[in-house]
Amino acid sequence: MSDCIFCKIANHEIPTSLVYEDDLVAAFRDMNPQAPVHVLVVPKEHYTNIVDEVPAQTLAAMAHAVKEVARIEGVLESGFRVIANTGEDAGQTVHHLHWHVLGGVHMSEGML
Ligand code: AMP
Ligand code: ZN
Repeated sequence: MSDCIFCKIANHEIPTSLVYEDDLVAAFRDMNPQAPVHVLVVPKEHYTNIVDEVPAQTLAAMAHAVKEVARIEGVLESGFRVIANTGEDAGQTVHHLHWHVLGGVHMSEGML
């Protein structure tokens, strides 16, 4: 999608702090981090969110990328949280599917 910021980041049209990528997925640091580790995992193809008929192969690639990100960022053993804000009530602001990977701190219980 031509005016989508995450399409541009994932396809190298604008610079980012890239953590991991493969043919289907890119992972880069959130510009407004909410934890010591805060990385966004996105598909290179544009999907609005998790309910946008995302192919199983893409979801599997995203899951693989989550593990790679956790390993690279050093939180694979300590633990981390994966969040997919979906739609208005969840506060989704960027309408390109993304999973937040948050870690590096002991997270309190709240909504989760
Ligand atoms: P969400 O509320 O789930 O839609 O979250 C969107 C996230 O994208 C927020 O945490 C923003 O800080 C982050 N974000 C928006 N634009 C950029 C960007 N250009 N580079 C990195 N992170 C971004
Ligand atoms: Zn997009």
